[in-house]
Amino acid sequence: MKTLFSNLIQKEGYVFRLDDIAPNMNWKMMEKVKKLFNTYKVKPIIGVIPKNEDQELKSYPMCAFNFWSEIKNLKNQGWEIAMHGYEHLYNKQNNKKDYMGYGGNTEFANFPFEVQLNKLKLGMQIFREQNISVKVFFAPNHTFDQNTIKACKKIGIQSIVDGYGFIPYYENEIIFIPQLFYKLVSFPFGIQTMQLHLNYFTEKDYLDLEKFIKKNEKKIISYNEACSMARNDLKDKVLRVFIKKVLQLKRAII
Ligand SMILES: [Zn+2]
Repeated sequence: MKTLFSNLIQKEGYVFRLDDIAPNMNWKMMEKVKKLFNTYKVKPIIGVIPKNEDQELKSYPMCAFNFWSEIKNLKNQGWEIAMHGYEHLYNKQNNKKDYMGYGGNTEFANFPFEVQLNKLKLGMQIFREQNISVKVFFAPNHTFDQNTIKACKKIGIQSIVDGYGFIPYYENEIIFIPQLFYKLVSFPFGIQTMQLHLNYFTEKDYLDLEKFIKKNEKKIISYNEACSMARNDLKDKVLRVFIKKVLQLKRAII
């Protein structure tokens, strides 16, 4: 099985995605992870919430410096800035009609196109005011739909960090960088996004991350490297449908 997949995919690597980057967050852990990433030259994608209104996230400490200057510094270091929703308010239930088929609460999925476009435009405006160009998006709670994709394209978003699959792929003229796992998982083939929520990070999580990076140093790639591998083969499409079914079945059983 492993050889079959390896032959089909012929690439392997990891991209890091940091979620919930906002003025209120676990900055102490962010500082530690930043140092670790700098040591190993890891260039992650960071999901910045343009206008955080999420009360749970607001309970974290406020940064003692100018938030947007810090985001610009990170961008200048080669970190990729993504728009992570608009206000991070995902209180509307969606009935598994989202792209990933997860269901769950959402800030985007099942909302009319115009409403979604408006949220994305307002979010993009905030980045523009700060002179930060953004071409990547990922939705709070992984919930988005075809209208989100359409609206993303309209505001100049070129890629979404989410999706099933083992290699970045084109669909509806947008690049998807797959994100299958919520834990650090060593994978023998394919390109995977490792999602990190620093707000919930414990010391042990940090040490596990350090170990993972040391072990996989040569396989960690940047956003641009991941995008350059995007393809649109029929065999990848078949694999995506297969993995989607397997993972959805697994979720239904557990
Ligand atoms: Zn989030």
